[in-house]
Amino acid sequence: MPKEKPELSDAMRAKMSGKLPKKNPIKGTKFTIAISSAKGGVGKSTFATNLALALRNVGCKVGLLDADIYGPSIPKMFGINEKPKSDGQKLDPVIKYDIQCMSIGFLTDQQTPMIWRGPMVTSAIRTFTQKVNWKDLDFIIIDMPPGTGDTQLTFSQEIKIDGAIIVSTPQEVALLDVKRGIKMFDKLGVKILGLIDNMSYFIGDDNKRYNIFGESGVEKTAKEFDKKFLGEIPIDPEVGKSADIGKPIVEENSNSKISKIYLDLAKNVKSLYLV
Ligand code: ADP
Repeated sequence: MPKEKPELSDAMRAKMSGKLPKKNPIKGTKFTIAISSAKGGVGKSTFATNLALALRNVGCKVGLLDADIYGPSIPKMFGINEKPKSDGQKLDPVIKYDIQCMSIGFLTDQQTPMIWRGPMVTSAIRTFTQKVNWKDLDFIIIDMPPGTGDTQLTFSQEIKIDGAIIVSTPQEVALLDVKRGIKMFDKLGVKILGLIDNMSYFIGDDNKRYNIFGESGVEKTAKEFDKKFLGEIPIDPEVGKSADIGKPIVEENSNSKISKIYLDLAKNVKSLYLV
């Protein structure tokens, strides 16, 4: 009996031909924007959710993919308790605030820690990018896990990421990791749209500005690496409160100072990709 030829994977084929594997866009989406941070707790998920809502406010069709497998935040921040529907082949995203959402947190008990090894993370990412019925999206916003691990690698090597935004706070300890993050994206050939300085200052009742975590560190790092500085987002207790009730600030109060910052950023991102 003739032996069946083994299937060559795209990566193997590419290796043999000396070319890099072709990166595909996520089906059903036009542009993929990764929101990344080098450290946890700097406001990456807050940024991802509010940018998604602000892009919706400027007329884009938006999806939000929570790729933070070990610490999914989107279910809580968007107040989603339902499970995605499935036809046995593909999952439908859960739609909330007119945004198509997917998160590992929709499929697992949120109090159970994910103790997965790298290959399982890779396989979950593939499910989210290949087996979800994303529909007619202008942008899909990916909330990456912090750091420079398996998820970033899988995405950057397999998916056409059109731009990455790195969120940081201005402390030295966060900035050290930001530098690593910049180098990772540069190495993987992912275009960095710019750096955001979140929780950069606080305006007290005396109307004075307090630079609680230091000053201008993110802007300096952007300059050092020849990247764009996309601006500062101040500390505002409303940001935390609104996320805790499942209604991010852009949804809760689109006229707030912070929402306006997000709106300007969204217009900026939209104008880079859509005419
Ligand atoms: P990460 O995704 O980087 O781990 P989160 O988005 O979960 O960080 O934010 C960490 C905490 O900081 C949350 O409690 C969030 O509400 C709060 N937070 C984020 N940005 C701001 C801000 N600009 N002002 C006040 N609180 C913020």
